[in-house]
Amino acid sequence: MNVLVINAGSSSLKYQLLNPETGDLLAKGLCERIGIDGKFTYKPQIEDKAKLDAVDVAMPTHNEAIKAVLDALVDPKNGVIGSMKEIDAVGHRVVHGGEKFAKSVVINDEVMKAIEECNPLAPLHNPANIIGIKACQALMPGVPMVAVFDTAFHQTMPPVAYMYALPYEYYENDKVRRYGFHGTSHKYVSQRAAEMLGTPIEKLKIISCHLGNGSSVTAVDGGKSVDTSMGFTPLAGVLMGTRAGDLDAGIIQYLMERHGYTIEEMLTILNKKSGVQGISGISSDFRDLESAFKDGIERAGLAVDMFNYGVKKLIGSYAAAMGGVDAIIFTAGVGENSVSQRMAIASGLQFMGVKMDPEANKIRGREVVISAPDSKVKVLLIPTNEELMIALDTMNLVK
Ligand code: AMP
Repeated sequence: MNVLVINAGSSSLKYQLLNPETGDLLAKGLCERIGIDGKFTYKPQIEDKAKLDAVDVAMPTHNEAIKAVLDALVDPKNGVIGSMKEIDAVGHRVVHGGEKFAKSVVINDEVMKAIEECNPLAPLHNPANIIGIKACQALMPGVPMVAVFDTAFHQTMPPVAYMYALPYEYYENDKVRRYGFHGTSHKYVSQRAAEMLGTPIEKLKIISCHLGNGSSVTAVDGGKSVDTSMGFTPLAGVLMGTRAGDLDAGIIQYLMERHGYTIEEMLTILNKKSGVQGISGISSDFRDLESAFKDGIERAGLAVDMFNYGVKKLIGSYAAAMGGVDAIIFTAGVGENSVSQRMAIASGLQFMGVKMDPEANKIRGREVVISAPDSKVKVLLIPTNEELMIALDTMNLVK
């Protein structure tokens, strides 16, 4: 079975064609500058097939972008499938499912309406996801489509974890609550962790650390998300590449008054100019910060230390929330690659049974146990694969 996985943004669209039964990736790529001039990238994963790298393809709308994807996939010379008939289903990443969607669903008119109703919760993302779905429906009539939500995995959180201490009517009338994001990634790596450890997920208390440009930490008890660090929006939790993470809301009014900022300017600062970028004044990329610190730039070191400290505190608080922890997972760009940051985050957690294996930890991007054999808490490096998770959900729903 082949599933086309689509992640549509307002002016870009990422795609992968994969076989969820075998885990094989057939092709992947990216449409960029949709609605502007259109750039198309195609990377077939089969030998002797030529790739395309940011070539000009007119894409006035997402329809032309999807058409370019389908044309490339079935291209007689460089395509990876013989015809469109070999695409059995399409899995769409949708950012926000609100409280309506606690799991992935087959898309029909009613589902489309419900996704649209979630637009106010993610005004920058959901409308673009919907455009991507409609473009696929127009070009691939009759092919089943599934929506996989970033928020769905976290719908198992109890009220004690998802409520904000605001007047209750803001929850009832305005849907203000913690939703959490990166759910597809946290679900995938926690399932993989259970498989790696040979223990049913129902018996495990897992803390999943998705540390990338955006970062979130999730407590997964018995396979269910019971708390997560991102909140009503992805701005909350640990500080990130350019996002501030949790902060005292009083600072917002103070800075707006002192500098005469509008709320839009303030949000740009919090989303795009804060985090490790803001602290270091150098970069949002952790690799740049590591080398800047080696060159003696103290603030680069402070930024990384603040990030590691924030993640460590979340691990401690989620262990307390679950009454223990069996496994800690590191995933995403930083979690999969930064040997030193994994070590720094885990150091000082010996009191709760975490003992790293410094040699095993000297690895990047592979599934491996990086704790010592006698560590009570297992520490795992697991590369995330959100597209495969989307394809698996899609397969399970349409089969
Ligand atoms: P992601 O959002 O998951 O794609 O992660 C992107 C982030 O991973 C970048 O901001 C980098 O800072 C980080 N990253 C990638 N490779 C490394 C590395 N070797 N060491 C530290 N950070 C890395």
